[in-house]
Amino acid sequence: MIAIGAGVVIPAQAEPLRVTHLQLGLNAGLTRLVVEGSGPLDAAMAASADGLGLQLSLPSTRWAAPAPEVTAGGLVGALGLPVTGPDGQLNIAIDLIEPAVVERAFRLGPQGVRGHRLVIDLRPAEPNAFAAAFAAPVHLPLDTAVDIAPPPTATAGERRRLIVLDAGHGGQDPGAISASGRYEKEITLNVAKAVAQRLRATGRYRVLLTRESDRFIRLSERVALARSKEADLFLSIHADSLSSDRATRGASVYTRAEAASDTEAEALALRENRADQLSDTASAGDLDDVVSILLDLASRDTAKLSSRFAGLLTAAMGETTPLRRNALRAANFRVLSAPDVPSALLELGYLSNPADEALLFSESGRDRLAAAVVGAIDRFFGVEPR
Ligand SMILES: [Zn+2]
Repeated sequence: MIAIGAGVVIPAQAEPLRVTHLQLGLNAGLTRLVVEGSGPLDAAMAASADGLGLQLSLPSTRWAAPAPEVTAGGLVGALGLPVTGPDGQLNIAIDLIEPAVVERAFRLGPQGVRGHRLVIDLRPAEPNAFAAAFAAPVHLPLDTAVDIAPPPTATAGERRRLIVLDAGHGGQDPGAISASGRYEKEITLNVAKAVAQRLRATGRYRVLLTRESDRFIRLSERVALARSKEADLFLSIHADSLSSDRATRGASVYTRAEAASDTEAEALALRENRADQLSDTASAGDLDDVVSILLDLASRDTAKLSSRFAGLLTAAMGETTPLRRNALRAANFRVLSAPDVPSALLELGYLSNPADEALLFSESGRDRLAAAVVGAIDRFFGVEPR
């Protein structure tokens, strides 16, 4: 009850807190959730019922935020839609691509246009550490700050990671063609070279390009190069085009799956896989059955790493350029078939969209995109750029 003046009493309105913004991103190699609210927020985090994800619960809080712009990235495969429980508790389901624990969780006060924030950083964990951490709900913010181990830095003599960058298409295969008649093969090579230059400048990586000039290479040869050199990461770079739709724009990231995540991704994989039909040279030979069965075991770990990198790449691209809705997808891309090299395919944007075309063909746009790719690679290997 609040007393106002003499004798005038009105009931206290327990105004519920409101969540005004929810943001998923990456910070210092950790997956970061920032929940912004109308006042200091409390939350609890628990393992989801199926044990494969997390549930974030905020007591007496209601949702008053726009849909999050990024719903996948880092360790998070998908953020669920917020649901209000009968007790007024706001619940948000967090799908994980691998087990994770809370590294730290703290509050920040209002600052500029930002309101009260609850910042939650997640790091990967072994399944048993995940189970132990969430044996009971974890109350956030955490009372004690947790020190974060310094990121590993390459020392002299240590093997530097090998990144294979694959500029899509080339030679007689132009790839997609822009509204004004420019070629995908040109953009993919320019961006691959810009990424290579930035990666080499860090001194932390060795870099190989599947092609350095405008020439045709079969998809299987691109895969074979990454495998024979024992690459630590393979990134195939592309740009898409939709003949009947000039409005669609934004980047998307793909991993390989036998069954596509959606029909659009399936159609894209068919378009990208068609590249080899433009060559009349014999196939360099697909894996024979025995080898592919043996490699299936390796490919499960590789698939996990590929998903992790794709999530990081999606988040990094989202900080730089518009993303397609459901920007993280999967389909049966032949160029992602290395069973022992983590691989992802980046579609930088749509050549059929004038804004994307301008971005992709400008030097500044290309540099921004390249910087985002390098940021994701750094995060994947646990190196925070300074
Ligand atoms: Zn392409």
